[in-house]
Amino acid sequence: MLNIVIFGAPGSGKGTQSLRIVEKYGLNHISTGDVLRAEIKNGTELGQTAKGYIDQGQLIPDELMIDILASVLDGFQDSKGVIFDGFPRTIAQAEALKKMLAERGQEVSVMIDLDVPEEELMGRLIRRGIDSGRADDNEETIRKRLEVYHSQTAPLIDWFKGENKYHHIAGMGSMEEISAKIAQAIDSL
Ligand code: AMP
Repeated sequence: MLNIVIFGAPGSGKGTQSLRIVEKYGLNHISTGDVLRAEIKNGTELGQTAKGYIDQGQLIPDELMIDILASVLDGFQDSKGVIFDGFPRTIAQAEALKKMLAERGQEVSVMIDLDVPEEELMGRLIRRGIDSGRADDNEETIRKRLEVYHSQTAPLIDWFKGENKYHHIAGMGSMEEISAKIAQAIDSL
């Protein structure tokens, strides 16, 4: 069972690379951002709650996010493994994930940190906002999300190092180059 956490700041390429890993290894994919955006699109109560946080560049509260993740995870049958994209984003979420997987007799196989310089992230997200129209890809919200990444999410680097699951990847280069480095990390597990 491969349980891969794909990690990185907003704009680091988590989503793009997740899709490539899913294709190559036949894993299930959980993008918590995509789950929330689908809820918003469907006009659900959860979507309305999530929108308030997303538009401010803030994280959705841990308890809510952990419940959402558990229910998505429970929906996967006969899974070869899961790629977690955008989760965990806090230490509390990482601890909850560890517990959830342990209850299923599993663990995180590796955390892959796509490390991209800050100036590059900003440019990528602004370009993505123009192409995709994602409401939170505007300069002010991007700055807030990067701040939140540094204060709440980046501490997970040391947390996963402590778990012996950390794998650093320099995230600059072509999509293919990065995919090849990720595949190498997974194949060496
Ligand atoms: P993403 O598509 O992963 O960049 O997520 C977009 C937004 O969804 C984030 O800025 C957060 O507001 C929210 N979000 C996604 N995943 C999480 C998570 N694991 N914990 C809290 N908020 C999240």
